Amino acid sequence: MKLCFFNDKRLGLVRDENVFDVTSVLAKLPACGYPHPTHDIFIEALATPAFRKELAEVTLGKPLRVADVRLLSPVLNPGKIVAAPVNYLKHYQESLDDPETFTRAHVRKIQESGLFLKATSSLIGAGEPVQLRHHDRRTDHEVELAVIIGRPCQAVSSSDALDYVAGYAIGLDITVRGPEERSFRKSIDTYTVLGPWLVTSDELTDPARLDLSIKVNGDLRQHANTRDLIIDVPGLIAFASSFYTLLPGDIIITGTPEGVAPINPGDVMEADISGIGSMSVRVA
Ligand code: MN
Repeated sequence: MKLCFFNDKRLGLVRDENVFDVTSVLAKLPACGYPHPTHDIFIEALATPAFRKELAEVTLGKPLRVADVRLLSPVLNPGKIVAAPVNYLKHYQESLDDPETFTRAHVRKIQESGLFLKATSSLIGAGEPVQLRHHDRRTDHEVELAVIIGRPCQAVSSSDALDYVAGYAIGLDITVRGPEERSFRKSIDTYTVLGPWLVTSDELTDPARLDLSIKVNGDLRQHANTRDLIIDVPGLIAFASSFYTLLPGDIIITGTPEGVAPINPGDVMEADISGIGSMSVRVA
C-alpha cells in the first residue's frame, strides 16, 4: 500500500498514477488533547489491524492524478529524524578525497561517528520546493532510502529490527557545506524531503537490494544500490534504538552514496528508488 498526504493534509491511497482521497479514515484516530504525543498517531495506527481494516474497506471515489496534487511529507508529525552520516564506502572515499579540509574533518567511519538528528522543522514533501539559504555557500543534494518506524522499539536486535518498520520512502538530505556540525547544517527549513509517499513494509519487504538514484536537471548525479550500505537497514535500527527509543513516525535516513554535488535555485531534482517510485522536487 502506498499512502500519501496531499494538498491541505488530505490522506491519499496511491495506485499507479491515481490518488484516492481516504481522509475519512483519519476520523478513526484516537482524539489527543494537549499535550500532544511526541510520536505520529497516524503511523502508530497503521500497525493496528482495526485501522488497516478501515483503510481496506473505505469506499473509493473518483481519483485525482498524482501529477495534479501537491504532495506533502507522508509523515506529518515525526518525533525525530535520525540520520546516518557516511554509510557507503565510495562516498566515504569521495569525502576523504574532498579538497575542502572542513569536509575531510567530518569524515569518520559511521561506527565511530554514530548517528545524528535533523530538526523535524526541516521536513517537507515532494510538492514543496527546497528553499536554499546561505547563497554564498555550496549546498548539495543527498538521496537516501528513508525508513519510517511503525512501533516503539528500544535496543532491538538486527534480526528483529524490520518487524518495527511501518514503511519506506525516498529521503533527500539537503546539506549546506561548511565547518559546523552536521545537524546544524542539515536542519535548515525545507532541507529534509520525504516522499513521494510511504510504501508499507508488507508491500516492500526487503530494503536490502533497492536501486536509488537522483538526477538534477536530467543529469544523473548519484546511482547506487542499498546492498552497498556499510550498516544496513536492520543494523541502523539496532544502532539507533540502542541509544534512542524509536517511536511510530520516527524517520531514519540511511546515508547517501557517492556523487553528491551542488544544487542551485531553479534546479529540478528527480529522485527514484526501486519499489517506492520517483519524485520531482524543485529548488528555489
Ligand atoms: Mn545524508
